[in-house]
Amino acid sequence: MIPGPFSYHRPATLADAVKLLSTLGDDARPLAGGHSLIPMMKLRLATPEHLVDLHGIEGLKGIRYDGNKIVIGAMTTQHELLASEDIAKSLPILHESAALIADPQVRYRGTIGGNVANGDPGNDMPALMMTLGASYRLEGPAGVRKIAATEFYQGAYFTALEPGEILTAISIPLPAAAHGYAYEKLKRKVGDYATAAAAVVLTMASGKVASCVIGLTNLHETPLLATDAANMVIGTTLDAATLKKAAAAAEAIMSPAADARGPIEYRRHVGGIMVARALQRAASRAK
Ligand SMILES: Cc1cc2nc3c(=O)[nH]c(=O)nc-3n(C[C@H](O)[C@H](O)[C@H](O)COP(=O)(O)OP(=O)(O)OC[C@H]3O[C@@H](n4cnc5c(N)ncnc54)[C@H](O)[C@@H]3O)c2cc1C
Repeated sequence: MIPGPFSYHRPATLADAVKLLSTLGDDARPLAGGHSLIPMMKLRLATPEHLVDLHGIEGLKGIRYDGNKIVIGAMTTQHELLASEDIAKSLPILHESAALIADPQVRYRGTIGGNVANGDPGNDMPALMMTLGASYRLEGPAGVRKIAATEFYQGAYFTALEPGEILTAISIPLPAAAHGYAYEKLKRKVGDYATAAAAVVLTMASGKVASCVIGLTNLHETPLLATDAANMVIGTTLDAATLKKAAAAAEAIMSPAADARGPIEYRRHVGGIMVARALQRAASRAK
């Protein structure tokens, strides 16, 4: 429970942070809320020799509208997402899912940037960001680039971040005003990671699904989009037979790990149930 020795750095600018991370190389890691990194260090699953704390850098926090998008600074905490009226109004699914992360203590420190950059299949935000069509702004020694959330996740704890790069902001297109949404998360107890979770954003027209995106959390080594399942429900009223077919199509792409949250078959089965529930609840909320 005691981490290995490390040096602590607290740069005041993004440029200094990038320079430090590039110079120190593989032995250095950015530190955000520390609620994934520090437990990993205490378990000696991560042994960075240098921590580059991002808290001293101005401009990495905040939530603002930018045309038809909402831009969220990477160091914005999960608590700040929950307190934001803009998020509650324009991205209610983000509000709903942030409230299902851990407990208030974790949410006071944990950041959205750390949640999406971490690469843990159990994190709730990555599948949600893919469902919402979000993109990430990355700044590193080679300059600034943008990458779609759908292209960011490469494997458990492997992302498209290059050495020295910092995720600085997340840009999320505003969903249609009349959209329906739901984040359904099964967990063993309050404060736990998902045994299985599904995010749905859809629109309805004349009682039928007009558009639909489905994201899956902790049902594969990366977050997933269940594209076949989503296409299957378009043009339907979400009757029982369609829900069953969509859940089966989503289950077909799930390959969860067998762990303390249950064996593979169980987690896949409840994953299908989360998909069906999220579809129904999203449809009931669509205007
Ligand atoms: C008891 C407990 C329960 C939890 N339950 C859940 C849960 O149900 N759902 C959930 O989603 N999460 C859960 N978490 C994790 C929590 O949400 C973390 O806060 C989050 O995963 C990481 O955010 P952080 O700001 O703490 O990042 P840190 O722990 O500081 O960093 C995580 C990783 O991301 C890297 N990193 C951080 N910020 C950046 C950046 N801006 N650019 C590049 N790399 C960066 C770090 O180097 C590190 O590798 C739980 C944590 C605890 C302790």
